[in-house]
Amino acid sequence: MTSGAPSKPTLAETLQARLAERRQRGLYRQIKTLDEAPSPHALVDGRPMVAFSSNDYLGLARHPQVIAAQQQGARLGAGATASHLVNGHLRVHEALQEEIAAATGREAALVFSSGYAANLGAIGALIGRGDCIVSDKLNHASLIDGARLSRAESLRFAHSDMGALERQLQRAQSLGGNTLVAVDGVYSMDGDCAPLAEIARLCRRYGAWLMVDEAHGFGVMGSEARPIAGSAAAAGLSADEAPVLMGTLGKAAGNAGAFVAGSRALIDYLLQFARTYVYTTGMPPAVAAGALAALQVMAREPERRRQLRDNVARFRRGAGQLGLPLCDSASPIQPLLLGCEHTVMSIAAELAARGYLVGAIRPPTVPAGTARLRITLSAAHSGAEIDGLLEALGASLATLRSAAAAGIE
Ligand code: PMP
Repeated sequence: MTSGAPSKPTLAETLQARLAERRQRGLYRQIKTLDEAPSPHALVDGRPMVAFSSNDYLGLARHPQVIAAQQQGARLGAGATASHLVNGHLRVHEALQEEIAAATGREAALVFSSGYAANLGAIGALIGRGDCIVSDKLNHASLIDGARLSRAESLRFAHSDMGALERQLQRAQSLGGNTLVAVDGVYSMDGDCAPLAEIARLCRRYGAWLMVDEAHGFGVMGSEARPIAGSAAAAGLSADEAPVLMGTLGKAAGNAGAFVAGSRALIDYLLQFARTYVYTTGMPPAVAAGALAALQVMAREPERRRQLRDNVARFRRGAGQLGLPLCDSASPIQPLLLGCEHTVMSIAAELAARGYLVGAIRPPTVPAGTARLRITLSAAHSGAEIDGLLEALGASLATLRSAAAAGIE
């Protein structure tokens, strides 16, 4: 080497060092390759497994009528072939938007290709420099990234702490500009619901706009009049109180894509200004057709929601009897808070060996020291499968505790 300049690590060296650090901290992520969607049953390398890790809460990902509708939709074209605005989109997209608007009790809806895109697009369109976004600290990554990209002043409040929210709203008010409050209706990694009635009351008092992410509420909960509308409806909020509703079609609807629902003006506005809508390829017709069929099944088969509630209750009862570290959640998301990343990984591996897939959730997805097993229930689980998971959890935790007691953890 002749140059006096200090030699810099190569790209490969830099990446290897960062990956090694992630591995060493027990945070390395790997993909499992499955033979079919675990909804909730799947063959993995030829071995039958039961998944307690999917967001297919109503078991619609494998519903024969949904799959038939999706196959039928594919006849309209494998892809949308361009963005919604450049090409126009199909009648099935319009029909899906109308069905979503009716289900959520809003004037209109706009479909996006994912929930991540919907959150980024909606937030970025609604606020910008000079405005404020106030977010719960446990908001989903897509709301956090939407806040960052919007260039609005970003204020956060401690999880579901209404005193902290009010203080941030006072700060936001003093800054001038518009204020958007964005929260998950049901928190994706904790399963608890936002106190939406109280949040809406504070938004009204401070003139802030409320955006509720219904990724985990849509399809699962609602009001008597709108049983699948989500957590805002369940909390009794009107369309004026929760003017921006975002929901996904990849969870309870068992499919893919997402929507924002609200007033006609909101939807017209997003169609003009939401960059993740304008500058991306439209939702494939098959997905729109499958999602539409899923929404129709949701409306037709309320017994799926009843079964889901029973399954959640059965799991919580059994887990309580075993003394498992349950969280305060009434939703299908039932995390077991274990704290240590290595413990979470080893229990998830034990459970997989016993035929159960569960999510092992570690930082940075959740705060440091709060690694957890994210167990999700579906209407498609049988009582015997839930009991089987509980038995396997009890056995795995006992093995771990005795290993820890013997000092070989
Ligand atoms: N919001 C929340 C609360 C979520 O849990 C998710 C999915 N993990 C999203 C948004 C993103 O939705 P999608 O998977 O459709 O991109």
